[in-house]
Amino acid sequence: MQLAKAKQILQDYYGFDDFRNGQKELISTILAGQNALGIMPTGGGKSLCYQIPGVLLNGTAIIISPLISLMKDQVDSLHTLGIKATYINSSLTNDEYEERMNLLREGYFDFIYVAPERFDNHYFLSIIQQLQISFIAFDEAHCISQWGHDFRPSYRSIIQTLEHINHIPLRLALTATATPEVVCDIQNLLNIDDQSVVNTGFYRDNLSFHLVKGQNKQDFLFNYLPDHKHESGIIYAPTRKLVDTIHAQLIKKGFRTAYYHAGLSEDVRRQQQNKFINDEVEIIVATNAFGMGIDKSNVRFVIHYSLPMNIEAYYQEAGRAGRDGEPSDCILLFSGQDSHLPKFFIEQSELDEEKKALEYKKLRSMINYCHTDNCLPKYILNYFEEQNSYDDCGHCSNCTKTGEKVDRTRDAQIVLSCVMRMEQRFGTGLTAKVLKGSKDKKVKQFQLENLSTYGLMKHQTEKEITDFIHFLVAEDYLTTGDQRFPILKLTSKAADVLKNKAEVWMRQTEIQQTEEADVDSQLFEQLRLLRKEIADQDNVPPYVVFSDATLKELCRYLPTDKENMLKIKGVGLKKFDSYGEQFLEIIRLKSSNQPSHLISYQLYDEGNPIELIAKKRNVQEQTIATHLFKAYQEGYSIDWSDFIDDEVEEVVLEAYQTTGEPYLKPIKELVHDEIDYTMIKAVLIKNDLLDD
Ligand code: ADP
Ligand code: MG
Ligand code: ZN
Repeated sequence: MQLAKAKQILQDYYGFDDFRNGQKELISTILAGQNALGIMPTGGGKSLCYQIPGVLLNGTAIIISPLISLMKDQVDSLHTLGIKATYINSSLTNDEYEERMNLLREGYFDFIYVAPERFDNHYFLSIIQQLQISFIAFDEAHCISQWGHDFRPSYRSIIQTLEHINHIPLRLALTATATPEVVCDIQNLLNIDDQSVVNTGFYRDNLSFHLVKGQNKQDFLFNYLPDHKHESGIIYAPTRKLVDTIHAQLIKKGFRTAYYHAGLSEDVRRQQQNKFINDEVEIIVATNAFGMGIDKSNVRFVIHYSLPMNIEAYYQEAGRAGRDGEPSDCILLFSGQDSHLPKFFIEQSELDEEKKALEYKKLRSMINYCHTDNCLPKYILNYFEEQNSYDDCGHCSNCTKTGEKVDRTRDAQIVLSCVMRMEQRFGTGLTAKVLKGSKDKKVKQFQLENLSTYGLMKHQTEKEITDFIHFLVAEDYLTTGDQRFPILKLTSKAADVLKNKAEVWMRQTEIQQTEEADVDSQLFEQLRLLRKEIADQDNVPPYVVFSDATLKELCRYLPTDKENMLKIKGVGLKKFDSYGEQFLEIIRLKSSNQPSHLISYQLYDEGNPIELIAKKRNVQEQTIATHLFKAYQEGYSIDWSDFIDDEVEEVVLEAYQTTGEPYLKPIKELVHDEIDYTMIKAVLIKNDLLDD
């Protein structure tokens, strides 16, 4: 009963058809008055799990959220749905604060968002004490635990404080990252039964993991980015300097790009971050200082320009892609040198030896990720020691290796023996010069032009040779040691290659486009612009108005009236009332430019019977059939049983055999009367016997 109401809210307010994995279980647990813990991946839809009960239950729900920026977003989102919510934090003016506290006391809000520290405030507590509270939700609940990676003591003390004032409401905890220790800790503290823990695992099917090795990173960017021009993305780089450099390069190439690192003033950082969140720029180049508290749902790609410190950090950063559930890319650009910097960071850190050793071990796992031939997300999930066993994802760069493999054993032998002849004393640059046969003065200085390998790869460019050497490093045939200036040395794997005991095959990674062909990019762009306009007016981030997923569905289904627009994922009643007509206007214009047969097809695809489409469009049913057949021939799918059954098909095919020609009239003469021209045409087209 309650669940039916929850589902109704899901549809009416949010415009979603079904619950996602775990949502139903959590919501019903809370509605049944039991404390609950939800462990769901980023983008899994944790917010709904407290928002829907908050709407349904009497009283005000208190949501504990670690970051001010997250609160504002959430509250903005709730407002667009017509729900009474607010946040109370240090960013408010005195008047705002007073006003909100007064409304709170009157029980006006369904939701208030606060940071944990708010519970140290006596005035706040005194109001809480008298308030009817529906439940208290701990978002990012891992902050409760000392074992979690973002431990916040004030998160932990909330329960104690509430115990003190004898006022402990129902509790809901939500997190995306929880090791077994953290789960246990949360359960104990919040008193949550085992059967009220819902764990959907961390796997996120919409993320495609890619590993790019042995390719020039800059070239990769300049190949990838133009194909993803109107998409939001984050590029993580390991140092401030590199962030500045990449940022400058992208700006020079005309990409709208922001940047972010700890070396910038707080003002600049905020301004750059907002540009990205508000879709004023598509790309942000950043160090790992960026990202906490960013709930931007339409990040389409996260590119790591260099090796992250460990898998935990990588999965968290890469996971900022695709919160809206749309296909997104997580790309790691790897070259053999990349491990120096993390090692340096570990060395420089103030950790004791034991902790350092642990960090090295974690780094090793990260490096191994770059060498595995197995499914990439599976590798990551195994790292987290998930009990669940996963199938291969089928769409990471290891699962989809298609690029032709070429035998580079001979080239590898040349490079390796060159390194040997250079006595393993030089770096990649000079080695490439020797192989190229360069007249560089350093080559002369060390008399390297006398080596037998000098000029052996002269038909390749110096850059190709360098890239190939990087590949050999990535594949562990060469190592660059731990020194400040990387020097090439042979590994044990190299010996086998030199002795002809092992072959070296290389494949260029190709990134498959995630962009779906069925979305009209021009229309998408128009809708995006409108969304941006509305967002600016209302002073909220664009994705709070509609997500990318919603805009894409609009492009795909082209609704032209309220009824059909409400069927789109992410369009609920309130949002329709606020913005619906503005979007419909653009779509109507667009669809009036659509070829007639596709308009019919669209109606058909929405589930209208042929008869009704004919009536709506004021034409004969035959004409609609012709439209649909044409659409079919252009690659749209239709359900043939709307036109013919097996028996009709058989009879017509038989007649076709007899006449031997794909003409309708002679076939019509051979079959019984009930079979009309439309049916005959359907059979011929279905069997690919008719061209037009
Ligand atoms: P989390 O907090 O788990 O990272 P959010 O609550 O921010 O995730 O939700 C991520 C995205 O998924 C949001 O854009 C949200 O609107 C969408 N979403 C949530 N539940 C559903 C659902 N049942 N159907 C479709 N989209 C959903
Ligand atoms: Mg969340
Ligand atoms: Zn895979």
